[in-house]
Amino acid sequence: MPLPIAHGLTGASIIVASREAFSWRADWWPLLVGAMLAISPDFDLFFAWGLGYSERLHGGISHSILFAIPLGMLGALLARNFTRRGIAIYFAAALSHGLLDFLTKKEFGGAALLWPFSSQKLKLGLFNYYEFTPAPGFQPFGEILEQALDVSYYEILTFVPLFMAILFWSRWRQRRAL
Ligand SMILES: [Zn+2]
Repeated sequence: MPLPIAHGLTGASIIVASREAFSWRADWWPLLVGAMLAISPDFDLFFAWGLGYSERLHGGISHSILFAIPLGMLGALLARNFTRRGIAIYFAAALSHGLLDFLTKKEFGGAALLWPFSSQKLKLGLFNYYEFTPAPGFQPFGEILEQALDVSYYEILTFVPLFMAILFWSRWRQRRAL
C-alpha cells in the first residue's frame, strides 16, 4: 500500500497544480492541509490496529468518493478557502487517496470507492505495489519498521520528482502569464 509519503505528496501536488501563482510563503498551509487530507483515509488503520477492530475495516468507508466530500469541505474550511472551487480542490486531494490505492493494488486490498452503493474494495489489478503488508503481532516491530523505511525510500524517489515536476510546471505557467 502506498505510505503517507506517496499520499501526502500527491495531495500537495494537487494544491500546487490548483494555484495560479504558487508561493511557498503564501501556500505552505494549504499545502499542508492538502497533504494531510490525502493521508487521512488511512487513519482507519488506527481503528483496525489501535482499537482492535478487524483489519478488514481498512480501505473501506474512509476511502470512498462520498467520504471525500466532507473531507474536502473540512479542508476548504481549514485552509480558509470555503468556496465552491476551494471545496473541489480539497475534495480532489482527499479523493486522490482512494484513487491511488485503487491504482496500486493487485491481489489484495483496494479502496471501497463506491461505498455505500457497494462495499467492494476496488483495485485495478494491473501491477503490484511494493509488497508491504505489516501484520502487527505476527512480525517483530523492527522488521515492519525496516520494510516501511524501504518503501518510504522508493516513494521519495517516485513522488518527490512528480511533485517537483508539477512545481516547475506551475512556475513555468506563471512566468508565461507575466
Ligand atoms: Zn489507504
